[in-house]
Amino acid sequence: MIEGNERACDIRDTSGMWPYHPDLLATPVPRYTSFPTAAEFAPDVSQERHAAAISTATGDISLYVHIPFCEKICWYCGCNTAAANRTQRLTSYLDSLHREIELVGTLLPAGTRVRRLAFGGGSPNAISPVDFVRLFQQLVLHLPLGQPLVSVELDPRTLGPEWEGVFGAVGATHASLGVQTFAPHLQEAIGRVQPLQTIEEAVALLRRAGITSLNFDLMYGLPGQTMQDLDETLDLAARFGADRIALFGYAHVPHLLPRQRRIDASALPDGEARFAMAREGHGRLVNAGYTAVGFDHFALPGDPLAQATVAGTLRRNFQGFTEDQADVLIGLGASAISSFPDLLVQNEKNAGRYRMMLSQQLLPTGPGKERSVDDRRRGAVIQELLCRGRARVAADLLDSAMERLRPYLEPGLARIESGCILVIPDHALPYARSIAAAFDPYRQHSPRRFSSAI
Ligand code: SF4
Repeated sequence: MIEGNERACDIRDTSGMWPYHPDLLATPVPRYTSFPTAAEFAPDVSQERHAAAISTATGDISLYVHIPFCEKICWYCGCNTAAANRTQRLTSYLDSLHREIELVGTLLPAGTRVRRLAFGGGSPNAISPVDFVRLFQQLVLHLPLGQPLVSVELDPRTLGPEWEGVFGAVGATHASLGVQTFAPHLQEAIGRVQPLQTIEEAVALLRRAGITSLNFDLMYGLPGQTMQDLDETLDLAARFGADRIALFGYAHVPHLLPRQRRIDASALPDGEARFAMAREGHGRLVNAGYTAVGFDHFALPGDPLAQATVAGTLRRNFQGFTEDQADVLIGLGASAISSFPDLLVQNEKNAGRYRMMLSQQLLPTGPGKERSVDDRRRGAVIQELLCRGRARVAADLLDSAMERLRPYLEPGLARIESGCILVIPDHALPYARSIAAAFDPYRQHSPRRFSSAI
């Protein structure tokens, strides 16, 4: 399936050559953290099917644990999270999560080993350090942890000194901080105020705690953001020594996320300005020594994510670009998604229903999608295109996608080599998601539920 790795080995800043074709970026496209995407999920996955998928897992697997709470809710946020302001709500959620861990533990066959354990949300540090340690102990007690790589997403605004010992105790080596921007006026505009000192203290604490791979989430396309704002934020992130940077375009979809109504839409940069910011971000980070990873991640050369890029083993899962090679990812917690080779299934999103199902000792099965043979073939092509910029494509798939590929082939944003290898050249990186979407049969006419391509 895989052919060559020119992109991976030829890491240079080509962002200055990115041509701007607004017509080709106009259609919203999925981020393809899975294929089929969550938009195709339907409520027809039974608990028996969900249980059967867990009980036939083999070998090394990964776990994702979702904590859907935050101390303060940011206006731009698209995550399934709520304010952590009611102790009773947190306690009963954690009780249910403990039950789910126990239930999944009874289903997982002997011989499986959890090699990666990711805590995300929300903000896992919205719960108390004591509750976090208890949660970890529950995982140790009921699941086959095989010295997993432990990662945790964190809100730096609420990362008190008591967390330092916790990360050491659970052996966390990877952490991700929601930074978004260092510009105070932009922090005000998006409802997330965090002084520079907050980030300084969080970084120092995490390094002392043994975090060796530290990610900063950053954003462009914010209301009132200038190129200078972006440059200053990128430079500071590099100076802080972030091992990884995820640079996302802000997606303004208040019809889907009512909390975004507080953001001044009239101050949002237009499509051309967003494109220029994406280009600037790419160029600046590559020039600062980062390896470009996929279409929106960057990593220092010593980081495992950069090494996976160079080795051609980069993959994509619900957490974005990853070096994780496991074929099974089990999501725990309300709304968490599990991925099996032939099934994608989401846990019940509604926290009340999630708790109720677990109180009856039922798996909290929500909507999902069986992955047909055709889905898996198409998913492999989409993953190759997004992770490596090229994919060997079977003739029938290429034929079926040709009409949608033509607008990209004609201006040289894609090319076909040897009749069957579709290549996205480096200068066409901003179009990668749109080109990959040509293989997505569910996406003939994209509704406005996805983000813009850049
Ligand atoms: S801290 Fe993160 S998850 Fe929580 S509301 Fe803000 S952006 Fe969303």
